[in-house]
Amino acid sequence: MKELRFDNRFTRLLPADAEQGNHRRQVHQACYSRVKPALVSDASLVAYAPEVADMLGLSNAFCESDAFVDLFSGNRLLDGMDPHATCYGGHQFGNWAGQLGDGRAINLGELISENEEHWMLQLKGAGPTPYSRTADGLAVLRSSVREFLCSEAMFHLGVPTTRALSLILTGEQVMRDMFYDGRGALEPGAIVCRVAPSFIRFGSLQIFSARKDNETLQALLDHTITHDFPHLGKPDKAYYLQWFEQVCQSTAEMVVHWMRVGFVHGVMNTDNMSVLGLTIDYGPYGWLEGFDPDWTPNTTDREMRRYSFGKQPGIAGWNLARLGEAILPLIGDVGPLQEALDRYSASYRSMWQQMMANKLGLESFEAPADVTLLDALQNILTLTETDMTIFYRKLANLDATVDPDSHSDGEIMQSLLDAYYAPDELEGEVQHQIAVWLRLYIRRLQQDGRSNQQRRALMNQANPKYVLRNYLSQVAIDKAQAGDYSEIHKLYELLKHPYDEQPECESYAAKRPDWARDRAGCSMLSCSS
Ligand code: AMP
Ligand code: MG
Repeated sequence: MKELRFDNRFTRLLPADAEQGNHRRQVHQACYSRVKPALVSDASLVAYAPEVADMLGLSNAFCESDAFVDLFSGNRLLDGMDPHATCYGGHQFGNWAGQLGDGRAINLGELISENEEHWMLQLKGAGPTPYSRTADGLAVLRSSVREFLCSEAMFHLGVPTTRALSLILTGEQVMRDMFYDGRGALEPGAIVCRVAPSFIRFGSLQIFSARKDNETLQALLDHTITHDFPHLGKPDKAYYLQWFEQVCQSTAEMVVHWMRVGFVHGVMNTDNMSVLGLTIDYGPYGWLEGFDPDWTPNTTDREMRRYSFGKQPGIAGWNLARLGEAILPLIGDVGPLQEALDRYSASYRSMWQQMMANKLGLESFEAPADVTLLDALQNILTLTETDMTIFYRKLANLDATVDPDSHSDGEIMQSLLDAYYAPDELEGEVQHQIAVWLRLYIRRLQQDGRSNQQRRALMNQANPKYVLRNYLSQVAIDKAQAGDYSEIHKLYELLKHPYDEQPECESYAAKRPDWARDRAGCSMLSCSS
């Protein structure tokens, strides 16, 4: 194995917990606690991501060796690593929850890649830390499969995200009460190695602000500006606001991507929001099948629907407001923070409109006519259960050269039929409203004058053919739990090219099968992981 180089800026430059030992506690005036991963009995490799390995300078031969499993199960530490868990807080479901922290994530250190980038390596499920509160610090196979596959699928969709290097079974059994109904069961334990330039969250700053510890707050903010936002220059009061503007901007970009691909994070608590605008902490997330702004896969959020698909942009804004409050002591004036938040809303809206124009193959978004077009589109997508992913792929095949008035309602929507879960509902008023929208859309395309072929090519770059449909993960998990990892590998390969036609994998682009509609793990997930 080539020598791996580490440069642990986070632990070297930021204050450490003075207390030693791995017992649960409140940690004050410190950004992290040093803690080692728990040893595991019988680690084995389930999957790794060659692209991530390559980015880190790890060869495939190394990734397939025992040494790799030793390292990324936490059984072996290298010289240069400095394992630690970070301290953060957060608003959970709208309420301040105090100290949370890495309860089951242990950062090994910052690996330096060949082009001198810093990559924090983080083991999720590597055992208890001072932040584990009442929980065990472990993760199970089913949630680890979901994190591994989704991080990489999101990356290949072009959505900003943390990455996943490896998925390893620990050989231990972990007790989980999946439905919170007192029927706990043992499940296989697993560890994912996550990779990101940094895992600093909104809640990482909030915790110091909540404790009125402005010194540590400033140290952490200066640290992230210096190392993660070096283009802003030397940290200074004037830069805090610019930094906040950038977080607003990158958060808006991330959520626009979520809305484009139909991703529902499921737990947008402020501790699950990265200051780098990366999708982070894959828990009870889900993918829209039938388009429904009100949908969330998270059973814990079934009543409130706080984190449903359509609420994500507003919730991101709410979370940014909490981040703004957290850094207020360093800025002193609430006015410019409020202005930045207002700009978040405005820039989100214009980025969303541009994104929707891309999905529809329009040259540009033109208000006010396109506002009407999009409003009407949102409406027709909810008239009858409509598979969002299939709808946009099929829409790209529409012939925009026809005279829309010379075709009946039924004829005009012929190419979209595959997108509907209840084709027998496609009659009368429902069918008519869809056809009315399609006529409006065709006329709009005719204004642009792009050829069908040009438009289709562009649309197919904005509208994925393959996403990690909820039931597809579950099928892979069921097989993995029986010792067969082939479906994980298959999905991983498939989702590396989500925009390409892959004719041999056509069935993976099909509508959700009926058996998966109400099955746990497919459309309903709890936070238990
Ligand atoms: P999450 O809802 O996964 O974002 O987790 C919220 C907090 O609970 C974070 O501080 C996690 O590190 C912690 N946590 C979640 N699951 C566990 C676990 N099994 N053991 C210890 N801490 C956990
Ligand atoms: Mg979390």
